[in-house]
Amino acid sequence: MEFEADVQDIITRADSVKSFRFQKPASFTHKPGQFMYIKIKSETKELMKHFTISSSPSEDHLEFTKRLTGSDFSNALDALKIGDKVGINGPFGFFTFEGEFEKIGILTGGIGITPFRSMIRYCTDKQIATNIILLYGNHCEKDIVFAEELEEIQGQNKNFKAVFTLSEPDEGWAGRRGRINLDMARTEVPDFKERIFYIAGPPPLVEAMNNLLQELNLTPDKIKKEDFPGYENLKIYSH
Ligand SMILES: Cc1cc2nc3c(=O)[nH]c(=O)nc-3n(C[C@H](O)[C@H](O)[C@H](O)COP(=O)(O)OP(=O)(O)OC[C@H]3O[C@@H](n4cnc5c(N)ncnc54)[C@H](O)[C@@H]3O)c2cc1C
Repeated sequence: MEFEADVQDIITRADSVKSFRFQKPASFTHKPGQFMYIKIKSETKELMKHFTISSSPSEDHLEFTKRLTGSDFSNALDALKIGDKVGINGPFGFFTFEGEFEKIGILTGGIGITPFRSMIRYCTDKQIATNIILLYGNHCEKDIVFAEELEEIQGQNKNFKAVFTLSEPDEGWAGRRGRINLDMARTEVPDFKERIFYIAGPPPLVEAMNNLLQELNLTPDKIKKEDFPGYENLKIYSH
């Protein structure tokens, strides 16, 4: 479905990460994890990129969440004000979860959280019994996207566990330290053999997490992946 929508709200989620919220047309339906194309105008031209729908089908609004990188698109997006119009085309994609597995594991980092925010919110709102363990890596606390909400959902949904890990932890950080690695995966997800795994984010992160799961002897049919190209050279993701 292709339509124009007014920016209804702009929400800062983490350092250099903002959500852009729109009214959802009555006839728009999507699955948690799908993406949409966003078309905006810069000073000179029209720009278009794809973004996961970070809102859940169980919510009334439509939202996407972008890491602002200093690119033309990011700057044009950051200049948007409430009431400005953007073009939307969607939904697209097959990287979805609506409760079809009993247990899932999620491995992600940084902006890769967007499809999972939608899936986790959806499962919680719909009281879906799937057991979900999220391993979520970031550099420091201010980089954790949807931190407060994920903590809050842990309190509401007994089937959801979030494990935050920081590679450059702030002083006093009580959570996990370091990148997501084999030891961490084995300890936090002891029943990994019983789970379907979802991985999304910048390609180097997706590759690293896929390799980790292969080291755990999980076969490709147990692993679902979504790459967010465009972040390969961003310092925050270079290892
Ligand atoms: C299925 C799918 C879902 C996606 N979902 C999301 C999502 O939910 N959220 C999200 O943020 N992204 C998502 N992406 C990625 C998104 O489509 C863009 O590729 C990404 O946001 C990078 O776009 P950009 O305009 O910031 O950088 P690009 O213009 O693509 O540039 C790439 C990199 O170059 C650097 N760069 C470019 N221009 C400049 C400049 N002028 N100054 C400094 N540095 C510069 C930046 O470091 C930037 O990261 C998704 C992609 C796919 C395929």
